[in-house]
Amino acid sequence: MNFKREEYKKIAQKIFSIDSPSGFTNEITEVLKKWFEEMDYTYTISNNGTIKVSIKGESSKKKIALSAHIDTLGLMVRSIKSDGKLALTKIGSPLIPSLDGEYVRIKTRKNNIYEGTILSLSPSVHVYEDAEKLPRDIDHMEVRIDEKVFTENDVRKLGIENGDYVCIHPKFEITDKGFLKSRFIDDKACASLLLYLLKDKKEMKISFAYDTDIYFTCYEEIGHGASSIEPMDEFVVLDMGCIGKDLAGNEYSVSICAKDSSGPYDYELTTKMIQIAQENHLSYAVDIFPYYASDIRSAREAGLDFKGALIGPGVHASHGMERTHMEAIENTYRLLLGYLTKK
Ligand SMILES: [Zn+2]
Repeated sequence: MNFKREEYKKIAQKIFSIDSPSGFTNEITEVLKKWFEEMDYTYTISNNGTIKVSIKGESSKKKIALSAHIDTLGLMVRSIKSDGKLALTKIGSPLIPSLDGEYVRIKTRKNNIYEGTILSLSPSVHVYEDAEKLPRDIDHMEVRIDEKVFTENDVRKLGIENGDYVCIHPKFEITDKGFLKSRFIDDKACASLLLYLLKDKKEMKISFAYDTDIYFTCYEEIGHGASSIEPMDEFVVLDMGCIGKDLAGNEYSVSICAKDSSGPYDYELTTKMIQIAQENHLSYAVDIFPYYASDIRSAREAGLDFKGALIGPGVHASHGMERTHMEAIENTYRLLLGYLTKK
């Protein structure tokens, strides 16, 4: 089966361009809803925003669930400073030093959007002796708004308030050589891949072996993405694979996670994933993700009983300026299809 890179790119371009930090995913949800309607898929949305598309399989003997998270890391206005700059608080765990100089969109509750830049509190080498050395942590970074503001009151007059979302520019790009670069490959690469799967399924008339629920979760980055999903027998989460240190994963392969911070994934289902990767001659790596948790944990904590596995493209510099390659996306897709069509 052909993986149509251009089709995938089109979907990814759209999905990556939408700001969707955890707790602020309405806009992307609206886009997905429209897309499902156009593709003639029915969907449901839970109170916490989790989207589900159910696919009838050849057999109802077991229920499969897949998920990718559509939420990303982000920031929020913690307070407005007397000089009109914005103090910040984190949504999830962005790598704060990597945000120095990044563009942001501030979104107010009255639907105004303002642009700005994240800078350190000593942002000029001509003025501050510690411009290079000042720690790049959340307490030493602020937002300079692209508006003529000098005081806290000037900012409030724009309608910007504490608790407004500050969305970090996604900087999405796919290079001619197939590198996908963006801040939020985790997990928009996989969310785009599930959308591609739904499109490919219709176009190529692919039939799944078992009834399958496909979820797009909204709170993964803060730990409870899959808390409202429905009972299933097997749950395969699509999320980024880790790269670095002694890990085997890379930007061209699909990673299969054997264990993360929450403990081992299901032995039988993980072994099955490895076997499918081998049968299909995929480039894959089995790894332990040392500082990592996924929606498998939140589903577990919600009290569900299932076998869980995690697969995904290897992503370099996660929660910073991330990068993967289309080869990793393709390997992930082939593994996923192999699994969904296997009896
Ligand atoms: Zn993720």
